[in-house]
Amino acid sequence: MELIGKVALVTGASRGMGEAISLKLASLGARVAVNYVAIEPTNKVDADNVVQSIAHLGGEAIAVEADVRDGDAVKAMVQEIIDRWGKIDILVNNAGITRDMLLLRMSEKAWDDVLDTNLKGAYLCTKFALRSMSRQGWGRIVNIASLAGVIGNAGQTNYAASKAGLIAFTKSVAREMGSRNITANAVAPGFIKTLMTEKLPDEVKSSILSMTSLQRFGEPGEVAELVAFLASDKASYITGQVIGIDGGV
Ligand code: NAP
Repeated sequence: MELIGKVALVTGASRGMGEAISLKLASLGARVAVNYVAIEPTNKVDADNVVQSIAHLGGEAIAVEADVRDGDAVKAMVQEIIDRWGKIDILVNNAGITRDMLLLRMSEKAWDDVLDTNLKGAYLCTKFALRSMSRQGWGRIVNIASLAGVIGNAGQTNYAASKAGLIAFTKSVAREMGSRNITANAVAPGFIKTLMTEKLPDEVKSSILSMTSLQRFGEPGEVAELVAFLASDKASYITGQVIGIDGGV
C-alpha cells in the first residue's frame, strides 16, 4: 500500500487504460479522482462504475467531470479535488483520442481535435495540478504517450505528433520542476487491448502483432503496473524519461 495518503487524478478514466490505472492506484491506497468528459450520458455512468469498483475494493474515489481541452473546466475540476481532499500528488494524463487518416486526406478538424485532446489537455491539467504539488514539494506526473510518438506511424501524423509533443513536454516539465521534487515521466505503450485499438482493421492488427517480440497485445493492467511504479516513491530518482511498454516492437 505504498500510495496511502496520496491523492491522484487520472484523466479519461471512465474506461480502458485510465480505468485500469485508477483501479491500480486505488489498490495501493491512493484516493483517486476519476475524470470523464460528459459528451455521452454513458460516460458518467462508466465513471461512476469505476468509482463503485474502487469502493468495492475498499478504496476511495470520486468521479470528476471536465473536458481536458477546456481550461476553465480543468481549473474547476482541480479545485473540486483540492476542496475535497486538500491536494493533488499524482497526475496521470491519460485522456486521448485518435482520428486516423492519411495526411493528404486529413482535415484541419481531425488535426486540431487530436492535438487539443492529447497535448493541450495534458498542458492544462499539468499546469493546474502543479500548483498543489509545488506547494507541498512532492509530485508525480505520468503522461501516457505512445510508441507512435517515438517511431511515427503512417495514418497517424496527428496522433504521432501529439504524442511526440507530449514526450517533449514531459522532459521540459521534468527540467522545470525537478527542484521541487516533482518528477515527470512518459510511458509509451504499443498495442494495448482497449476500445481505441478494437476498431483497427484486422490487417493492421496482424501487422503490429508480427512486429511484436512477445507475439501478443498488451493488457491495460500491464500499463497500470508501470504507471503505479512511476507514481510511487520507488521511482524517486527517475524523471524526464520515456519508458516503452510494447511487448518488444
Ligand atoms: P480509450 O479506451 O479510447 O479511452 C480514452 C479515454 O479518454 C476515454 O475515457 C475517453 O472518454 C477519454 N477522453 C477522450 N477525450 C477526452 C476529453 N476531451 N476529456 C476527458 N477525457 C477524454 O483509449 P485507451 O486505449 O484506454 O487510451 C488511453 C491513453 O493511452 C490515450 O492517451 C491513448 O492515446 C494512449 N495509448 C493507447 C494505446 C492502445 O493501444 N490502446 C497505445 C498507446 C497509447 P470518452 O468515453 O468520452 O471517449
